[in-house]
Amino acid sequence: MRTDHSYSRVLHVDLETGRSRVLRFGSRAEHLGGSGLAAALYATYGLHEAPALDPRQPLIFAVGPLTGFFPLMSKVVCGFRSPYTGEWAESHAGGRLALSLRFAGYDALMVTGAARGLSALVVGARTVDVHDVNYLRGADVFSAGKYLRRFGKSSSGHRSCIRIGPAGERGVHYACINVDSFRHFGRLGAGSVMGAKNLKGIVVQGDGAFPLPDGNAYAKLMREVYKDITATDKMRKYHDLGTPANLLALNELKALPWNNLQKTYDERIDGVSGETFADKFLLRQTACAGCPVGCIHIGLLRQQFASDHEFLYKQVSYDYESIFSQGTMLGLTNASDVLALLDETEKLGLDCMSSGVALAWVAEAVDKGVLTEAETIVPVRFGEVQGFLDALRHLALGSNEFYRVLGTGTLKAADVYGGSDYACVLGQEMAGYATGEVFFVSQAYGFRHSHLDSGGYSWDQSAKEKDAGKAVDFLVDDEYKRILINSMVSCMFARASYGPERIGECLESVGLPDVAANLGSAGKAMQALRWNLKCRTGFDVHAVRIPKRYTEVVTWKGGIDVGYMDDVRTRYAQAILDMAAAAPVVSGGEEG
Ligand code: SF4
Repeated sequence: MRTDHSYSRVLHVDLETGRSRVLRFGSRAEHLGGSGLAAALYATYGLHEAPALDPRQPLIFAVGPLTGFFPLMSKVVCGFRSPYTGEWAESHAGGRLALSLRFAGYDALMVTGAARGLSALVVGARTVDVHDVNYLRGADVFSAGKYLRRFGKSSSGHRSCIRIGPAGERGVHYACINVDSFRHFGRLGAGSVMGAKNLKGIVVQGDGAFPLPDGNAYAKLMREVYKDITATDKMRKYHDLGTPANLLALNELKALPWNNLQKTYDERIDGVSGETFADKFLLRQTACAGCPVGCIHIGLLRQQFASDHEFLYKQVSYDYESIFSQGTMLGLTNASDVLALLDETEKLGLDCMSSGVALAWVAEAVDKGVLTEAETIVPVRFGEVQGFLDALRHLALGSNEFYRVLGTGTLKAADVYGGSDYACVLGQEMAGYATGEVFFVSQAYGFRHSHLDSGGYSWDQSAKEKDAGKAVDFLVDDEYKRILINSMVSCMFARASYGPERIGECLESVGLPDVAANLGSAGKAMQALRWNLKCRTGFDVHAVRIPKRYTEVVTWKGGIDVGYMDDVRTRYAQAILDMAAAAPVVSGGEEG
């Protein structure tokens, strides 16, 4: 058990040589953990000149210094070079992985190189094994999970199993890594990075232990934090209807994308509202390890498989983003149809948001006669679930040239086949907020091209005036606060409970006063480093595209103000360049 907590403890496995080592990496007071740690590791070990799918590129899974000590410190940052953008990227997921890594004694797992054949990596406090799993080639996520869970059976309480499906093996640029049940490193293609390493899955056995801090201070603070999370109304909405509660509200605001963002409101919303999912399909809520909230909503999918009354039943997770991307965006108004699509997407190992938005573009392009069945193989039309189900499989399997190109991104496909004006891509396939100018810019330019980079959507809803300078100051400052959270790595839903001051108190209580004291400047430094890495790996603020569709959107505020949007984008691009130029030099690691 280590006693010096000034560095991060990183397990590095090189699949090429089959060797592993434990690194004492850098200074925690400088890189913090999670998002900062992943960036610092890539700055030290990444190949800036090599492409994303070069197997030598690191694939990093990092937790934070508070993981295992406080509630909702339940997430892991996956850091990788994205095959979708070519740039340094992050994707975050919950499940059991964070606690398994903590119990195994690591702040991060870094994998480089490619195995000779399809393999599974099994790591624990005293174990690093690589198993040949060639028999799982082509296996879907569900059956791969069943086999992989046999590894590390002895530590089932703190064991996590992550794996890819056929989409990741095939290199679809928005293939995800499925984490345990119902969680994902969804966006920007981490699944393909794993596939390029010939890695079907990773099992982390949390078979070690770590002591809790002595004295009363930690216990007292822990009680306070727990009470704040469970005895106030802060988290109630996430457990009750969950994020799907937003469907009705955003539809009412005329900010919910429908039919590939051709409209922002539809009176048939009741068929796929959060209330309908809860009343008719909700089986249970479940939670990531270490979370007392339980926001993961599991719906019941019944599928008839014979003409008599014979049904298969399945449990499928749903939330706002998945209902938007594989429901309203596709013109579907039946909750059961959405669950069927989500189940298929999960099985194939595709990111549900990118694949849904990609198929929405296909449906509009078919409507407009830009695509025909010569490309789509099957009929793909808004409101018809079977075509989307079939198309998902063609997309994951790359059945023809069209689907192979579509698997590299919607805008890339539109550049080849036509229809780029209505490709709903802002850096990657959009998230489900048609709230206006600031959100569109924040997603197109944001670090992860994600609605979670900053609260651009909330600025659109609350700002009284169109002041581009104030909007950009908000985006930069809000991102900084989120980076602190993502460096710990807390669930973003707990951001009202974990402000900078509370994070500092938590760090002090677990014996990291130097990290607490340096929190503000380290957060700024990691914000700068992340932008610096993104720019060094190809991000060009002058080349960012915002397709025409985003200038045509009509929300509750009326039409989009293109002049205001341009002002925000020019100022945000400059702010990004300024941050990237201020990046610190990162100290490396040594074997320990
Ligand atoms: S609130 Fe939801 S996503 Fe966040 S840690 Fe809890 S269960 Fe996981």
